[in-house]
Order: sequence, then structure tokens, then C-alpha cells
Amino acid sequence: MSDADHEGRDGRRLRTRLVGAGRRPSEQFGYVNTPIYRGSTVLFPTYHDLVTRNAPFTYGTAGSPTTKALTDAWSELSGAAGTVLAPTGLAAVTLALMSVVAAGDHILVVDSIYRPSRIFCDGVLKRLGVETEYFDPLMGTEVARLMRANTSVVFLETPGSQTFEVPDVPAIAALARERGICSILDNTWATPLFFPPHARGVDLAIEAGTKYLSGHSDLLLGLVSANARFLPQLQATADAFAMCPGPEDVFLALRGLRTLELRLREAQSQGLAMARWLEARPEVARVLHPAFPSCPGHELWRRDFHGASGLFSVLLRPAPQKAVAAMLDGLELFGMGFSWGGYESLVIPFDCRPYRTATDWRPGGPALRFSIGLEDVEDLKDDLARGFERLAAAS
Ligand SMILES: *Cc1c(COP(=O)(O)O)cnc(C)c1O
Repeated sequence: MSDADHEGRDGRRLRTRLVGAGRRPSEQFGYVNTPIYRGSTVLFPTYHDLVTRNAPFTYGTAGSPTTKALTDAWSELSGAAGTVLAPTGLAAVTLALMSVVAAGDHILVVDSIYRPSRIFCDGVLKRLGVETEYFDPLMGTEVARLMRANTSVVFLETPGSQTFEVPDVPAIAALARERGICSILDNTWATPLFFPPHARGVDLAIEAGTKYLSGHSDLLLGLVSANARFLPQLQATADAFAMCPGPEDVFLALRGLRTLELRLREAQSQGLAMARWLEARPEVARVLHPAFPSCPGHELWRRDFHGASGLFSVLLRPAPQKAVAAMLDGLELFGMGFSWGGYESLVIPFDCRPYRTATDWRPGGPALRFSIGLEDVEDLKDDLARGFERLAAAS
């Protein structure tokens, strides 16, 4: 992991900063970690303090020492002017969008976007008079052709979290900035450790903390970081919606943060080991992993990222659905379920053909997405090898 993008104002390197970020033991009686502050009411000592809101914390929805520890740490690691929290990753997406759109706007959204984000654009935003146009993640600066006088947002995700195309985020963000358009990036896959969003020119960056920040499949959380230009309207929108996460979840995210770099590095090496093994299997037609030259946008991943996390997809050679079911149903180590980034390995089948509109996605066979956990990779390979035997037997 390169430190060039992560050097703090104090010149310290990323791993050191991950240990210290957001912590103020002297304000917590010396305790290493900021505890869980629960509460609605915050008492003001005097009339004057109350009417002038002269206090670091004023009410439960406006944040607590626990939430401030996380937002301060996240802003530092993301290179952001500030961060707001949301109860889920999807709530972070909708909050970011609601902070910039107005009725009559046109927004550009990458076709490889996380599907529930797409449903929000096609449903709620449409109802509010915002028109969404999807674009090919690989069209690069050609997206300029789609920008209109009323375009207010370009929404990106890198890579697409099912199909793994890597768009040219710096070029598209720069184009947007020239035209006064807000660029928003769903940065969940890479986290700021592998893709420093604001250094790459993005205005608002989203992280589903549910994934790697948690790392343990035991919480839901969203974060939106902003540069100085967009922070005031993001903060005002967050205050208006008051979609606050619970303090226990914020505490768990802070705990996850301290080991995020270790876990991501391990996710990278475990993921690469499994992806290489899968690529050599006769049943696999193609691996979709940004670190593989066969992945669309691989050269942009090499240019812009510091690493790869442990989530990737494979396209199988044509096989009947019942054979894929036989393969997946018998797996002992891979769980089947949504989300990813936890310590345990997961696999899901997926098919984006029914909902993509700007690109023609042709998998050519069944598609599987893997989130590789911390199990021994030899055991994971054995589990999948037995799965491939069941696939062949049922084909
Ligand atoms: C999971 C995910 C989200 C949403 O996070 P939740 O906490 O599950 O709402 C948003 N974007 C991406 C890319 C995701 O993978």
C-alpha cells in the first residue's frame, strides 16, 4: 500500500495514523478508546450557553463523542473536509444524492451501480422530478457528451461491485468539476485505503461501513465524506434527515478501523490466491477482478488504486441452473448471502441483464460473486473443487 496519498499533516504514515485517528484518551479519563455515549438530551450549564448553543455537543441527533471519533478519523483517512454518518450504506448513498439534487435536474449514473442505488434513482428521485441517465462505466471522458446544462451529479462506483469494470474516476471527476457538476463516488470496494477518493478529484465519497470497515458481518453503517465545497450542504442535509446510526454500531466501526489495513491486505492476498486458482479451472470462462489484465479497466486500477479487496466475480462456462444449484448448495465453507467484506467467505449467483440499461452485459454463462474471507485458502479451494464436481455431475 503506497503512503504517498496517505501522508498526514504530521508526516506520519498510514498504519500509524490508523492507530491514532479520532482518539482523544485525555478527554476520556485516559481510556484508550472513546466509549459508547448513549443519549438524546445534552445539558447546558447556563441559559446563555443554551441559547447560543455554546457546547461541543448539543443533542443526540447532532452527534456525540463516539460519532465524532469516527467522523474525524474517516475524514483524516479519506483526505476529506468532513464526514457524516448514516445508518446503512444505502442511506449514505441516498443522503449524498439528496444533498445535491433539486427538482428539474438531470443526473448521470454509472450503469454498473449497486442495484438498490439504482432503484432509489428510478423511484424516489424520479418522483421528485430528477431525471437519471445511465452511462457505460468504460466510456471515459466521452461522458462529456451526456452532460447537459441541468446536469447536477455524476455518480460513480469503482469498480462495479458485481461486474468490476473500473471507470476513469479522476478524468470524469475533473470533467464534472469544470462544469460545476458534483461528482459522487461509491468507494465501498476499495475503501479510502486503496482508493483515496478526494485526492482523485471526487466531491462526495460513500462507504458502506457494513462491509470492510465492520469486517465482521455484525453491523450496518454508512459514511459520506466531502470536500470543503460540498460539506456544508451535505451536513445540512444530514441534519435535516437525522438518519443517525446507533452508538454501538459506531463503536464497532471504530474498532474495525484499527485493523482495517491488516484485514484489507489479507483480503487482497486471499482474494488473489482464490481468483488465480479459479482462473485456472476448466469450468471458469473468465475472472472479473480488477487486478487481472482481463478485467475491463484493469490499467486504470493499476494507475489509480493502491490495492484490491477480496471481492470479485467469475463467469462460468455454460451450465444449467440445476448444476449451479448443486454446486452452491453443497458448499461447506462458503455461505450464500448478501453483503460482503466480513471474515467469512461468501458466494452469490447474480445476473445484471434484467436491469442494466446503458450497456449490454453478456456473461455467456452463470455468474458468481465471491467475497473471500480469512479461512485457509487450501480449504476454500477444496470446498470449491468438490462444488465443481457436483456441477459437472449435474450438467
Ligand atoms: C452493500 C453496499 C451498499 C449498501 O450498504 P448497506 O449497508 O447494505 O445498505 C452500497 N454500495 C455498495 C457498493 C455496496 O456493496
